[in-house]
Amino acid sequence: MPEDLLALARRLEGECACGRRHALQTRALYSGGRVPGRLRALAGDLAAGGQILCVYDATTKALAGPLVSEALRGLPQAEAILLGDEIHADERALGQILLRAGEKTALLLAVGSGTVNDSTRLVAHRLKLPYLVLGTAPSMDGYASSVSPVLDQGMKITYEAVAPEAVLFDEGILAAAPRKMVAAGLGDMLGKHIALLDWELSQAILGESRCEAVFGLMSEALARCEKLAPGLAAGEEGAAARLAEGLTLSGLAMQMMGNSRPASGAEHHIAHFLEMRQLLRGEKPSLHGDKVGVATLFMIEFYQKLFQKRREAKPVDLRLWEARLRRGYGPLAGGFLRAAPLEQGEGRTSVEQYEGYLRHFDGFAQKAAVLAAKREDFAQMLEAAGGPSAPEGIGATRQDMKDAMLCAFLLRPRYSALRMAFRLGVLEEIAEEIFA
Ligand SMILES: [Zn+2]
Ligand SMILES: [Zn+2]
Repeated sequence: MPEDLLALARRLEGECACGRRHALQTRALYSGGRVPGRLRALAGDLAAGGQILCVYDATTKALAGPLVSEALRGLPQAEAILLGDEIHADERALGQILLRAGEKTALLLAVGSGTVNDSTRLVAHRLKLPYLVLGTAPSMDGYASSVSPVLDQGMKITYEAVAPEAVLFDEGILAAAPRKMVAAGLGDMLGKHIALLDWELSQAILGESRCEAVFGLMSEALARCEKLAPGLAAGEEGAAARLAEGLTLSGLAMQMMGNSRPASGAEHHIAHFLEMRQLLRGEKPSLHGDKVGVATLFMIEFYQKLFQKRREAKPVDLRLWEARLRRGYGPLAGGFLRAAPLEQGEGRTSVEQYEGYLRHFDGFAQKAAVLAAKREDFAQMLEAAGGPSAPEGIGATRQDMKDAMLCAFLLRPRYSALRMAFRLGVLEEIAEEIFA
């Protein structure tokens, strides 16, 4: 039941043992059959007589346009349709939405999945307007997120945005979503294994604050989605809707932290790196969730190697690394190197980080081994759902994957196994072992 998922999250609202005050913007989460009535009630209430700007792309307009028209009949409304062969959450998409927004616009309604939502959420934030989501595919976990990853002059940057007031899924529309979109959603979700482990690692090594309650909520979302895998593979009725709910729960966890820490770690950095590389090459990027799924399988191997034997820390030649990163990022290198200079540390010296690594070795070795034992199952889950489990399936070579493993830590200052390995001087040797 979707309501109890939201209730699960709501229980964490307010003062928390982690020292934060957790708050949720999202007041409703619904998936089922009677969506038009709910959408009308929510939109009418939030817009209060003002204009509702409905944001689509061509596909979601065809898929969900009739339902939205029926729901909003008679209410003041306008439309922004993101057009083009290749749509990304970028300057162009943001501009298209802004152009359709007017003085009377009182509410934005995002009708779609990743790109439409990431774009609408950021515009709503900048215009200080509320927004609603009608999700069209269980392909990614950002429906209830409060941040927007956006391509800014080719660089994938995560901007602060606003979370939706409500997230709605129509079962009929979800059931019609292509299999590969569903598999991508599963891939995005499996990535939480690494995101959560990176969070624990950062707590252990740097002392980063970690909320046990939000961590538990995300683990719950992950467990629910994993259980759905056989049903998703078999195309079972309702399985796609349950996946959409689990994915949305992950967004609620992000809202409560005020950042994407619970949902995004090294596996997302690798996925973002590969996406930028595909765009630089002029290729159509593969689905985000597919990239996250494949990157997760590689990161499981990475954690296993990092904690199989106690590695010896080695000196890090920053000049050499800068040259390598410049090759890896091409024309985008300068921007990332300026945003997170290599010499700017993580608040703990590399000697301190190495001591932490040794001190916490046994605990992480155990966690890494548990994940490694499930790696084959995860790969099979992705394949059975109709998704890729190897670099070729996401339009990347093994060399791309290796470059991503070496370079992705620069993409965000957020601490991860990759960033720790870089500081300890063992990143290259582990990548060499994996891609030998
Ligand atoms: Zn994701
Ligand atoms: Zn907390």
